[in-house]
Amino acid sequence: MSKALLKGLALTLQTFFRKPVTVQYPDEKRPVPGRFRGRPALVAREDGTPRCVACGLCEKICPSLCIAVTAETGPEGIRALARYRLDLNRCSFCGLCVEACPVEAIIMSADYELAAAGRESLVWDKGRLLAGPGRAGEGRS
Ligand code: SF4
Ligand code: SF4
Repeated sequence: MSKALLKGLALTLQTFFRKPVTVQYPDEKRPVPGRFRGRPALVAREDGTPRCVACGLCEKICPSLCIAVTAETGPEGIRALARYRLDLNRCSFCGLCVEACPVEAIIMSADYELAAAGRESLVWDKGRLLAGPGRAGEGRS
């Protein structure tokens, strides 16, 4: 019997007695690492409103041109976020929008489940971007 064959048989025997590592996705999910970059998500204040101040820096820095921010004048004349649109069809998950944001209003979330029936359902608005999971290993801040 060749040496290679013996090595192969030894490996088979080793793995035969090992506990299976199969994860029953989607019922079971493996935790993602802390620095994982899932889809971008907006961060809400305690009252549920977006932390975003509609400065437009993320829109300007995005290399894929997938962010559109519209500002409005809120109560007491303060600039506020009217609309936030993010086209996940084009997002490259680079994280530059997060780097550019001066108020930590946008994060790379732990969300990787992005299957959609059509391209239009991958264009997310403010409400959808505020909901859902936050960063890996923590709740929404
Ligand atoms: S992760 Fe990159 S490509 Fe995606 S929205 Fe942010 S800046 Fe644009
Ligand atoms: S950079 Fe931050 S505060 Fe400015 S528009 Fe983007 S998410 Fe909002």
